[in-house]
Amino acid sequence: MLPGFFDSMVALITRTSTDLPPDVRAAMASALATEEPSTRAGQALTVIAQNIDQAESCEGPICQDTGMPTFEVKVPLGANQIWMRHQIREAVAEATRLGKLRPNSVDSITGENSGNNLGPGTPIIHFDQWEAPEIEVKLILKGGGCENTNAQYSLPSELDHLGRADRNLEGVRKCILHAVWKAQGKGCSPGAVGVCVGGDRTSGYLHAKEQLFRTLDDTNPDPRLAEIESVVMDEANRLTVGPMGFSGKTSLIGCKIGALNRLPASFFVSVAYDCWAFRRLGVRMDATTGAITSWLYREGSAPSQPMLDPAVVAAGFPRTGREISLEAPISEAQIRSLKVGDVVLISGRMFTGRDAVHAHLMKHEPPVSLQGAVLYHCGPVVSKADGAWKVLAAGPTTSIREEPYQAEILERYGVRVVIGKGGMGPKTLAGLKESGGVYLNAVGGAAQFYARCIERVDDVSLMEFGTPEAMWHLQVRDFPAIVTMDSHGNSLHRDVEDASGRILATLLPRP
Ligand code: SF4
Repeated sequence: MLPGFFDSMVALITRTSTDLPPDVRAAMASALATEEPSTRAGQALTVIAQNIDQAESCEGPICQDTGMPTFEVKVPLGANQIWMRHQIREAVAEATRLGKLRPNSVDSITGENSGNNLGPGTPIIHFDQWEAPEIEVKLILKGGGCENTNAQYSLPSELDHLGRADRNLEGVRKCILHAVWKAQGKGCSPGAVGVCVGGDRTSGYLHAKEQLFRTLDDTNPDPRLAEIESVVMDEANRLTVGPMGFSGKTSLIGCKIGALNRLPASFFVSVAYDCWAFRRLGVRMDATTGAITSWLYREGSAPSQPMLDPAVVAAGFPRTGREISLEAPISEAQIRSLKVGDVVLISGRMFTGRDAVHAHLMKHEPPVSLQGAVLYHCGPVVSKADGAWKVLAAGPTTSIREEPYQAEILERYGVRVVIGKGGMGPKTLAGLKESGGVYLNAVGGAAQFYARCIERVDDVSLMEFGTPEAMWHLQVRDFPAIVTMDSHGNSLHRDVEDASGRILATLLPRP
Protein backbone atom coordinates (compact mmCIF):
# COMPACT_ATOMS: atom_id res chain seq x y z
CA MET A 1 0.00 0.00 0.00
CA LEU A 2 1.09 3.65 0.38
CA PRO A 3 3.47 3.81 3.39
CA GLY A 4 3.22 7.59 3.81
CA PHE A 5 -0.55 8.02 3.36
CA PHE A 6 -1.58 7.81 7.02
CA ASP A 7 1.06 10.30 8.18
CA SER A 8 0.12 12.65 5.34
CA MET A 9 -3.51 12.59 6.47
CA VAL A 10 -2.59 13.29 10.10
CA ALA A 11 -0.44 16.21 8.90
CA LEU A 12 -3.29 17.56 6.77
CA ILE A 13 -5.80 17.36 9.63
CA THR A 14 -3.38 18.92 12.11
CA ARG A 15 -2.48 21.84 9.91
CA THR A 16 -6.06 22.46 8.85
CA SER A 17 -7.20 22.62 12.46
CA THR A 18 -4.36 24.82 13.68
CA ASP A 19 -3.16 27.11 10.88
CA LEU A 20 -5.52 29.27 8.79
CA PRO A 21 -4.69 29.46 5.06
CA PRO A 22 -3.21 32.68 3.62
CA ASP A 23 -6.35 33.83 1.79
CA VAL A 24 -8.38 33.74 5.02
CA ARG A 25 -5.59 35.44 6.97
CA ALA A 26 -5.48 38.19 4.32
CA ALA A 27 -9.25 38.72 4.53
CA MET A 28 -9.12 38.92 8.33
CA ALA A 29 -6.15 41.30 8.20
CA SER A 30 -8.16 43.60 5.91
CA ALA A 31 -11.11 43.44 8.31
CA LEU A 32 -8.83 44.32 11.23
CA ALA A 33 -7.37 47.27 9.33
CA THR A 34 -10.82 48.79 8.76
CA GLU A 35 -11.88 48.95 12.42
CA GLU A 36 -10.81 51.39 15.12
CA PRO A 37 -8.82 49.34 17.67
CA SER A 38 -10.78 50.67 20.66
CA THR A 39 -14.23 49.75 19.30
CA ARG A 40 -15.98 46.46 20.15
CA ALA A 41 -15.38 45.30 16.58
CA GLY A 42 -11.71 46.33 16.75
CA GLN A 43 -11.18 44.55 20.06
CA ALA A 44 -12.88 41.39 18.77
CA LEU A 45 -10.78 41.34 15.60
CA THR A 46 -7.60 41.88 17.61
CA VAL A 47 -8.49 38.91 19.82
CA ILE A 48 -9.18 36.84 16.69
CA ALA A 49 -5.82 37.81 15.19
CA GLN A 50 -4.06 36.97 18.46
CA ASN A 51 -5.87 33.64 18.52
CA ILE A 52 -4.82 32.80 14.95
CA ASP A 53 -1.17 33.41 15.82
CA GLN A 54 -1.40 31.53 19.12
CA ALA A 55 -2.96 28.49 17.44
CA GLU A 56 -0.25 28.37 14.79
CA SER A 57 2.59 28.78 17.26
CA CYS A 58 1.45 26.01 19.64
CA GLU A 59 -0.15 23.81 16.96
CA GLY A 60 -3.43 23.93 18.90
CA PRO A 61 -6.96 24.03 17.46
CA ILE A 62 -7.90 27.51 16.21
CA CYS A 63 -11.42 26.92 17.51
CA GLN A 64 -12.53 24.34 20.07
CA ASP A 65 -15.28 23.25 17.67
CA THR A 66 -13.18 21.44 15.13
CA GLY A 67 -16.31 20.74 13.16
CA MET A 68 -17.39 18.02 10.80
CA PRO A 69 -14.29 16.77 8.95
CA THR A 70 -15.21 16.72 5.26
CA PHE A 71 -12.69 15.22 2.83
CA GLU A 72 -12.81 15.59 -0.95
CA VAL A 73 -10.47 12.98 -2.47
CA LYS A 74 -9.38 12.66 -6.09
CA VAL A 75 -7.60 9.46 -7.09
CA PRO A 76 -6.08 8.06 -10.28
CA LEU A 77 -7.61 5.01 -11.95
CA GLY A 78 -6.93 1.83 -10.01
CA ALA A 79 -6.45 3.44 -6.58
CA ASN A 80 -7.78 1.42 -3.66
CA GLN A 81 -10.51 3.65 -2.24
CA ILE A 82 -11.59 1.15 0.41
CA TRP A 83 -8.10 1.14 1.95
CA MET A 84 -7.79 4.92 1.72
CA ARG A 85 -11.14 5.46 3.43
CA HIS A 86 -9.99 3.22 6.26
CA GLN A 87 -6.70 5.13 6.56
CA ILE A 88 -8.45 8.51 6.59
CA ARG A 89 -10.73 7.31 9.39
CA GLU A 90 -7.73 6.04 11.35
CA ALA A 91 -5.99 9.41 10.85
CA VAL A 92 -9.08 11.24 12.15
CA ALA A 93 -9.04 9.05 15.28
CA GLU A 94 -5.31 9.70 15.75
CA ALA A 95 -5.73 13.50 15.35
CA THR A 96 -8.49 13.34 17.95
CA ARG A 97 -6.25 11.41 20.33
CA LEU A 98 -3.56 14.09 19.83
CA GLY A 99 -6.03 16.88 20.73
CA LYS A 100 -6.02 18.41 17.24
CA LEU A 101 -9.71 17.54 16.82
CA ARG A 102 -12.37 17.65 19.54
CA PRO A 103 -14.45 14.46 19.90
CA ASN A 104 -17.45 15.66 17.91
CA SER A 105 -19.31 12.55 16.76
CA VAL A 106 -22.47 11.99 18.80
CA ASP A 107 -24.97 9.13 18.46
CA SER A 108 -28.16 10.94 17.49
CA ILE A 109 -30.38 8.41 19.29
CA THR A 110 -28.49 7.84 22.56
CA GLY A 111 -26.52 11.10 22.76
CA GLU A 112 -23.33 9.13 23.37
CA ASN A 113 -20.10 10.66 22.05
CA SER A 114 -17.95 8.07 20.23
CA GLY A 115 -14.85 9.83 21.60
CA ASN A 116 -12.79 9.47 18.43
CA ASN A 117 -14.78 11.33 15.76
CA LEU A 118 -15.80 8.07 14.10
CA GLY A 119 -19.37 6.95 13.65
CA PRO A 120 -22.10 6.70 11.04
CA GLY A 121 -21.66 9.77 8.82
CA THR A 122 -18.46 10.93 10.54
CA PRO A 123 -16.13 11.83 8.94
CA ILE A 124 -17.58 12.71 5.54
CA ILE A 125 -15.40 11.35 2.71
CA HIS A 126 -16.16 11.87 -0.98
CA PHE A 127 -14.11 10.12 -3.67
CA ASP A 128 -13.74 11.07 -7.33
CA GLN A 129 -11.50 9.63 -9.98
CA TRP A 130 -9.41 11.86 -12.21
CA GLU A 131 -6.84 11.40 -14.96
CA ALA A 132 -3.90 12.98 -13.11
CA PRO A 133 -1.24 10.58 -11.77
CA GLU A 134 -1.29 11.82 -8.16
CA ILE A 135 -3.78 11.77 -5.26
CA GLU A 136 -5.40 15.00 -4.05
CA VAL A 137 -7.14 15.38 -0.71
CA LYS A 138 -8.92 18.56 0.35
CA LEU A 139 -10.29 18.98 3.86
CA ILE A 140 -12.69 21.46 5.41
CA LEU A 141 -13.50 21.63 9.14
CA LYS A 142 -16.79 23.46 9.53
CA GLY A 143 -18.16 23.86 13.05
CA GLY A 144 -21.69 23.58 14.41
CA GLY A 145 -22.28 27.27 15.07
CA CYS A 146 -21.86 28.22 11.45
CA GLU A 147 -23.47 25.00 10.19
CA ASN A 148 -26.60 25.91 12.14
CA THR A 149 -26.81 29.23 10.27
CA ASN A 150 -26.96 27.54 6.85
CA ALA A 151 -30.16 28.38 5.02
CA GLN A 152 -32.10 26.96 2.10
CA TYR A 153 -34.73 28.96 0.24
CA SER A 154 -37.41 27.67 -2.11
CA LEU A 155 -38.28 30.43 -4.57
CA PRO A 156 -40.47 32.36 -4.90
CA SER A 157 -40.34 33.36 -1.24
CA GLU A 158 -41.20 36.37 0.92
CA LEU A 159 -38.17 37.55 2.91
CA ASP A 160 -38.03 39.87 5.93
CA HIS A 161 -37.11 43.42 4.90
CA LEU A 162 -36.48 42.39 1.27
CA GLY A 163 -39.92 41.50 -0.03
CA ARG A 164 -40.44 38.81 -2.64
CA ALA A 165 -37.51 36.83 -3.97
CA ASP A 166 -38.40 35.65 -7.48
CA ARG A 167 -36.88 32.86 -9.54
CA ASN A 168 -34.05 34.92 -11.01
CA LEU A 169 -30.60 36.23 -10.04
CA GLU A 170 -32.17 39.16 -8.23
CA GLY A 171 -34.02 36.63 -6.06
CA VAL A 172 -30.73 34.80 -5.48
CA ARG A 173 -29.07 38.03 -4.35
CA LYS A 174 -31.89 38.67 -1.89
CA CYS A 175 -31.63 35.16 -0.43
CA ILE A 176 -27.89 35.48 0.21
CA LEU A 177 -28.25 38.88 1.86
CA HIS A 178 -31.11 37.55 3.96
CA ALA A 179 -28.98 34.60 5.10
CA VAL A 180 -26.10 36.88 6.12
CA TRP A 181 -28.46 39.17 7.99
CA LYS A 182 -30.17 36.26 9.74
CA ALA A 183 -26.83 34.79 10.83
CA GLN A 184 -25.86 37.99 12.72
CA GLY A 185 -23.04 36.93 15.10
CA LYS A 186 -24.27 33.38 15.66
CA GLY A 187 -21.92 31.91 13.05
CA CYS A 188 -18.93 33.91 14.35
CA SER A 189 -18.94 36.67 11.77
CA PRO A 190 -17.26 37.88 9.68
CA GLY A 191 -17.98 34.73 7.73
CA ALA A 192 -18.05 33.50 4.15
CA VAL A 193 -20.90 31.95 2.20
CA GLY A 194 -20.87 29.15 -0.35
CA VAL A 195 -24.04 29.22 -2.41
CA CYS A 196 -25.74 26.87 -4.85
CA VAL A 197 -28.43 28.09 -7.21
CA GLY A 198 -30.64 25.16 -8.20
CA GLY A 199 -30.15 21.41 -7.73
CA ASP A 200 -32.42 19.57 -5.34
CA ARG A 201 -32.44 20.02 -1.56
CA THR A 202 -29.60 17.54 -1.06
CA SER A 203 -27.35 18.36 -4.00
CA GLY A 204 -27.94 22.08 -3.40
CA TYR A 205 -26.47 22.01 0.09
CA LEU A 206 -23.60 19.79 -1.02
CA HIS A 207 -22.71 22.07 -3.94
CA ALA A 208 -22.98 25.12 -1.68
CA LYS A 209 -20.46 23.60 0.73
CA GLU A 210 -18.18 22.68 -2.20
CA GLN A 211 -17.99 26.39 -3.11
CA LEU A 212 -16.10 26.89 0.16
CA PHE A 213 -13.17 25.02 -1.38
CA ARG A 214 -12.62 28.03 -3.69
CA THR A 215 -10.14 30.64 -2.47
CA LEU A 216 -11.66 33.83 -1.09
CA ASP A 217 -9.80 35.96 -3.64
CA ASP A 218 -10.66 34.03 -6.83
CA THR A 219 -13.06 35.24 -9.55
CA ASN A 220 -16.04 33.19 -10.63
CA PRO A 221 -15.52 32.03 -14.26
CA ASP A 222 -19.23 32.69 -14.92
CA PRO A 223 -19.51 36.49 -15.30
CA ARG A 224 -23.18 36.49 -14.21
CA LEU A 225 -22.31 34.80 -10.92
CA ALA A 226 -19.14 36.88 -10.54
CA GLU A 227 -21.31 39.98 -10.69
CA ILE A 228 -23.66 38.71 -7.96
CA GLU A 229 -20.71 37.71 -5.77
CA SER A 230 -19.26 41.19 -6.03
CA VAL A 231 -22.61 42.90 -5.36
CA VAL A 232 -23.32 40.71 -2.33
CA MET A 233 -19.87 41.40 -0.85
CA ASP A 234 -20.46 45.12 -1.16
CA GLU A 235 -24.02 45.09 0.19
CA ALA A 236 -23.47 42.58 3.00
CA ASN A 237 -20.66 44.74 4.32
CA ARG A 238 -22.99 47.74 4.39
CA LEU A 239 -25.30 45.91 6.80
CA THR A 240 -23.01 46.75 9.75
CA VAL A 241 -23.61 43.39 11.46
CA GLY A 242 -19.86 43.38 12.04
CA PRO A 243 -17.50 41.00 13.84
CA MET A 244 -19.42 38.76 16.29
CA GLY A 245 -22.57 40.76 15.52
CA PHE A 246 -21.13 43.66 17.56
CA SER A 247 -21.79 46.10 14.69
CA GLY A 248 -18.88 47.05 12.47
CA LYS A 249 -17.63 47.42 8.94
CA THR A 250 -16.96 43.79 7.99
CA SER A 251 -19.72 41.18 8.04
CA LEU A 252 -18.66 38.97 5.12
CA ILE A 253 -15.21 37.91 3.88
CA GLY A 254 -16.27 35.82 0.93
CA CYS A 255 -19.20 34.95 -1.35
CA LYS A 256 -18.79 32.00 -3.73
CA ILE A 257 -21.69 30.92 -5.94
CA GLY A 258 -22.19 27.81 -8.07
CA ALA A 259 -25.18 26.61 -10.05
CA LEU A 260 -26.77 23.23 -10.81
CA ASN A 261 -29.64 22.41 -13.11
CA ARG A 262 -32.98 22.02 -11.35
CA LEU A 263 -36.38 20.45 -11.87
CA PRO A 264 -38.86 22.81 -13.53
CA ALA A 265 -40.97 22.85 -10.34
CA SER A 266 -38.07 23.60 -7.95
CA PHE A 267 -35.84 26.62 -7.48
CA PHE A 268 -33.67 26.26 -4.40
CA VAL A 269 -31.01 28.67 -3.21
CA SER A 270 -28.79 26.89 -0.68
CA VAL A 271 -26.41 28.89 1.50
CA ALA A 272 -23.55 27.27 3.43
CA TYR A 273 -22.22 29.77 5.98
CA ASP A 274 -18.67 29.40 7.27
CA CYS A 275 -17.19 31.41 10.13
CA TRP A 276 -14.00 33.47 10.23
CA ALA A 277 -12.27 30.27 11.46
CA PHE A 278 -12.43 29.08 7.87
CA ARG A 279 -10.31 25.97 8.11
CA ARG A 280 -9.67 24.51 4.70
CA LEU A 281 -6.49 23.03 3.27
CA GLY A 282 -5.39 20.32 0.85
CA VAL A 283 -2.46 18.22 -0.27
CA ARG A 284 -1.25 16.42 -3.36
CA MET A 285 0.46 13.09 -2.78
CA ASP A 286 2.64 10.68 -4.68
CA ALA A 287 0.29 7.86 -5.72
CA THR A 288 2.95 5.21 -5.08
CA THR A 289 4.13 6.34 -1.63
CA GLY A 290 1.37 8.56 -0.20
CA ALA A 291 3.99 11.21 0.65
CA ILE A 292 2.94 14.86 0.34
CA THR A 293 4.38 16.46 -2.80
CA SER A 294 2.67 19.84 -2.45
CA TRP A 295 0.17 21.78 -0.32
CA LEU A 296 -2.93 23.45 -1.71
CA TYR A 297 -4.05 26.94 -0.69
CA ARG A 298 -0.59 27.75 0.69
CA GLU A 299 3.03 28.02 -0.44
CA GLY A 300 4.75 24.82 0.60
CA SER A 301 5.04 23.95 4.27
CA ALA A 302 6.83 27.17 5.31
CA PRO A 303 5.48 28.83 8.50
CA SER A 304 2.57 31.22 8.01
CA GLN A 305 3.01 34.98 8.12
CA PRO A 306 1.92 36.12 11.61
CA MET A 307 -1.17 38.32 11.83
CA LEU A 308 0.32 40.58 14.50
CA ASP A 309 3.57 41.69 16.04
CA PRO A 310 4.49 39.06 18.70
CA ALA A 311 4.45 41.80 21.38
CA VAL A 312 0.78 42.51 20.61
CA VAL A 313 -0.02 38.80 20.92
CA ALA A 314 1.87 38.57 24.21
CA ALA A 315 0.05 41.65 25.59
CA GLY A 316 -3.24 39.75 25.67
CA PHE A 317 -6.62 41.48 25.67
CA PRO A 318 -6.36 45.00 24.20
CA ARG A 319 -7.40 47.06 27.24
CA THR A 320 -8.74 50.59 27.23
CA GLY A 321 -8.62 51.15 31.01
CA ARG A 322 -12.42 51.07 31.26
CA GLU A 323 -12.65 47.32 31.96
CA ILE A 324 -14.56 46.18 35.05
CA SER A 325 -13.02 43.35 37.07
CA LEU A 326 -15.37 40.83 38.70
CA GLU A 327 -14.51 37.94 41.01
CA ALA A 328 -16.90 34.95 41.11
CA PRO A 329 -19.19 34.30 42.95
CA ILE A 330 -20.86 37.54 41.90
CA SER A 331 -23.59 39.47 43.76
CA GLU A 332 -26.85 40.76 42.33
CA ALA A 333 -25.80 44.34 43.12
CA GLN A 334 -22.66 43.93 41.01
CA ILE A 335 -24.74 42.56 38.14
CA ARG A 336 -27.34 45.33 38.33
CA SER A 337 -24.56 47.92 37.99
CA LEU A 338 -23.50 46.55 34.60
CA LYS A 339 -24.90 47.81 31.33
CA VAL A 340 -24.66 46.85 27.68
CA GLY A 341 -21.28 47.81 26.24
CA ASP A 342 -19.30 47.31 29.45
CA VAL A 343 -16.20 45.15 29.12
CA VAL A 344 -15.63 42.87 32.09
CA LEU A 345 -12.70 40.75 33.20
CA ILE A 346 -13.87 37.68 35.12
CA SER A 347 -11.68 35.90 37.66
CA GLY A 348 -12.38 32.96 39.96
CA ARG A 349 -14.54 29.87 39.44
CA MET A 350 -16.37 29.32 36.17
CA PHE A 351 -18.51 26.33 35.17
CA THR A 352 -19.02 25.18 31.60
CA GLY A 353 -22.46 24.06 30.51
CA ARG A 354 -23.98 23.61 27.10
CA ASP A 355 -26.80 21.58 25.55
CA ALA A 356 -26.69 18.40 27.66
CA VAL A 357 -26.04 20.29 30.93
CA HIS A 358 -28.96 22.66 30.32
CA ALA A 359 -31.35 19.81 29.52
CA HIS A 360 -30.09 17.99 32.64
CA LEU A 361 -30.57 20.99 34.92
CA MET A 362 -34.22 21.27 33.91
CA LYS A 363 -34.86 17.93 35.61
CA HIS A 364 -32.07 17.53 38.19
CA GLU A 365 -30.32 19.58 40.84
CA PRO A 366 -26.87 20.84 39.74
CA PRO A 367 -23.86 18.79 40.90
CA VAL A 368 -22.47 21.96 42.58
CA SER A 369 -24.03 25.15 43.92
CA LEU A 370 -24.55 27.69 41.15
CA GLN A 371 -25.44 30.62 43.45
CA GLY A 372 -23.67 33.69 42.08
CA ALA A 373 -21.99 31.48 39.47
CA VAL A 374 -20.59 32.14 36.03
CA LEU A 375 -21.93 29.66 33.48
CA TYR A 376 -19.87 29.42 30.30
CA HIS A 377 -21.46 28.04 27.13
CA CYS A 378 -18.38 26.13 26.04
CA GLY A 379 -17.36 22.63 25.00
CA PRO A 380 -13.58 22.67 25.48
CA VAL A 381 -10.87 20.49 23.99
CA VAL A 382 -9.16 18.83 26.99
CA SER A 383 -6.39 16.33 27.59
CA LYS A 384 -5.24 14.45 30.67
CA ALA A 385 -1.57 14.12 31.56
CA ASP A 386 -0.17 12.81 34.87
CA GLY A 387 -3.69 12.64 36.28
CA ALA A 388 -4.44 16.33 35.67
CA TRP A 389 -6.80 17.79 33.09
CA LYS A 390 -5.54 20.55 30.82
CA VAL A 391 -7.71 22.73 28.61
CA LEU A 392 -6.28 22.94 25.09
CA ALA A 393 -8.97 25.12 23.50
CA ALA A 394 -11.99 26.83 25.04
CA GLY A 395 -13.94 29.42 23.06
CA PRO A 396 -17.68 30.04 23.48
CA THR A 397 -20.40 28.08 21.72
CA THR A 398 -23.60 29.51 20.20
CA SER A 399 -25.89 30.46 23.08
CA ILE A 400 -29.23 30.65 21.33
CA ARG A 401 -29.59 26.86 21.57
CA GLU A 402 -30.11 27.27 25.32
CA GLU A 403 -32.89 29.83 24.89
CA PRO A 404 -35.66 27.38 25.95
CA TYR A 405 -33.87 26.68 29.27
CA GLN A 406 -31.78 29.66 30.29
CA ALA A 407 -34.29 31.88 32.08
CA GLU A 408 -35.47 29.01 34.25
CA ILE A 409 -31.93 27.99 35.15
CA LEU A 410 -31.08 31.58 36.10
CA GLU A 411 -34.09 31.75 38.38
CA ARG A 412 -33.86 28.27 39.91
CA TYR A 413 -30.17 28.15 40.73
CA GLY A 414 -29.05 31.77 41.13
CA VAL A 415 -26.66 31.87 38.18
CA ARG A 416 -25.56 35.50 37.75
CA VAL A 417 -23.45 35.48 34.58
CA VAL A 418 -23.95 33.58 31.34
CA ILE A 419 -21.10 33.72 28.84
CA GLY A 420 -21.46 32.59 25.24
CA LYS A 421 -21.61 34.02 21.76
CA GLY A 422 -24.22 35.20 19.32
CA GLY A 423 -26.63 36.41 21.99
CA MET A 424 -29.93 35.04 23.27
CA GLY A 425 -33.59 35.81 22.76
CA PRO A 426 -36.45 37.62 24.51
CA LYS A 427 -37.15 34.87 27.04
CA THR A 428 -33.60 35.01 28.40
CA LEU A 429 -33.58 38.82 28.27
CA ALA A 430 -36.68 38.86 30.47
CA GLY A 431 -35.09 36.24 32.75
CA LEU A 432 -31.94 38.35 33.18
CA LYS A 433 -34.09 41.29 34.26
CA GLU A 434 -36.22 39.22 36.60
CA SER A 435 -33.43 37.25 38.27
CA GLY A 436 -30.62 39.79 38.15
CA GLY A 437 -28.34 38.24 35.58
CA VAL A 438 -26.18 39.37 32.71
CA TYR A 439 -25.17 37.87 29.38
CA LEU A 440 -21.59 38.33 28.25
CA ASN A 441 -20.44 37.78 24.68
CA ALA A 442 -16.98 36.28 24.37
CA VAL A 443 -15.22 36.28 21.01
CA GLY A 444 -16.41 33.20 19.13
CA GLY A 445 -13.73 30.87 17.88
CA ALA A 446 -11.00 32.44 20.05
CA ALA A 447 -10.28 29.09 21.64
CA GLN A 448 -6.54 29.52 22.17
CA PHE A 449 -6.97 33.02 23.51
CA TYR A 450 -9.48 31.91 26.16
CA ALA A 451 -7.60 28.73 27.03
CA ARG A 452 -4.81 31.04 28.19
CA CYS A 453 -7.22 32.69 30.65
CA ILE A 454 -7.79 29.34 32.39
CA GLU A 455 -5.35 28.80 35.23
CA ARG A 456 -6.41 25.26 36.05
CA VAL A 457 -9.16 22.67 35.93
CA ASP A 458 -10.43 22.04 39.47
CA ASP A 459 -12.90 19.28 38.71
CA VAL A 460 -15.43 17.96 36.22
CA SER A 461 -19.03 16.77 36.64
CA LEU A 462 -21.43 14.97 34.32
CA MET A 463 -18.64 13.30 32.34
CA GLU A 464 -21.19 10.78 31.12
CA PHE A 465 -22.18 13.43 28.55
CA GLY A 466 -18.71 13.29 26.93
CA THR A 467 -15.91 15.85 27.23
CA PRO A 468 -17.49 18.70 25.19
CA GLU A 469 -20.81 18.42 27.07
CA ALA A 470 -19.52 17.79 30.61
CA MET A 471 -19.57 20.49 33.30
CA TRP A 472 -15.96 21.63 33.76
CA HIS A 473 -15.01 23.55 36.93
CA LEU A 474 -12.43 26.08 35.77
CA GLN A 475 -10.33 28.61 37.63
CA VAL A 476 -9.92 31.65 35.37
CA ARG A 477 -8.02 34.92 35.53
CA ASP A 478 -9.05 38.12 33.70
CA PHE A 479 -11.33 36.37 31.25
CA PRO A 480 -12.55 39.24 29.00
CA ALA A 481 -16.08 39.51 27.60
CA ILE A 482 -18.55 42.23 26.66
CA VAL A 483 -21.94 42.82 28.27
CA THR A 484 -24.36 42.45 25.37
CA MET A 485 -27.56 41.75 27.39
CA ASP A 486 -28.00 43.42 30.76
CA SER A 487 -30.40 43.15 33.69
CA HIS A 488 -32.30 46.28 32.60
CA GLY A 489 -33.84 44.82 29.45
CA ASN A 490 -31.18 46.02 26.99
CA SER A 491 -29.77 43.80 24.25
CA LEU A 492 -27.05 44.77 21.80
CA HIS A 493 -28.04 41.76 19.66
CA ARG A 494 -31.61 42.98 19.29
CA ASP A 495 -30.40 46.49 18.49
CA VAL A 496 -27.88 45.36 15.84
CA GLU A 497 -30.40 43.00 14.25
CA ASP A 498 -33.01 45.78 14.06
CA ALA A 499 -30.54 48.34 12.71
CA SER A 500 -29.11 45.97 10.09
CA GLY A 501 -32.66 44.97 9.12
CA ARG A 502 -33.49 48.61 8.43
CA ILE A 503 -30.38 48.88 6.22
CA LEU A 504 -31.35 45.65 4.45
CA ALA A 505 -34.68 47.23 3.53
CA THR A 506 -32.91 50.17 1.87
CA LEU A 507 -30.81 48.05 -0.50
CA LEU A 508 -32.31 48.85 -3.86
CA PRO A 509 -33.64 46.11 -6.13
CA ARG A 510 -31.31 45.45 -9.04
CA PRO A 511 -32.43 44.99 -12.65
S1 SF4 B 1 -15.47 30.01 15.03
FE1 SF4 B 1 -17.55 29.99 15.89
S2 SF4 B 1 -18.90 29.17 14.29
FE2 SF4 B 1 -16.78 28.70 13.76
S3 SF4 B 1 -16.49 26.63 14.51
FE3 SF4 B 1 -15.75 28.05 16.08
S4 SF4 B 1 -17.49 28.41 17.45
FE4 SF4 B 1 -18.28 27.46 15.58
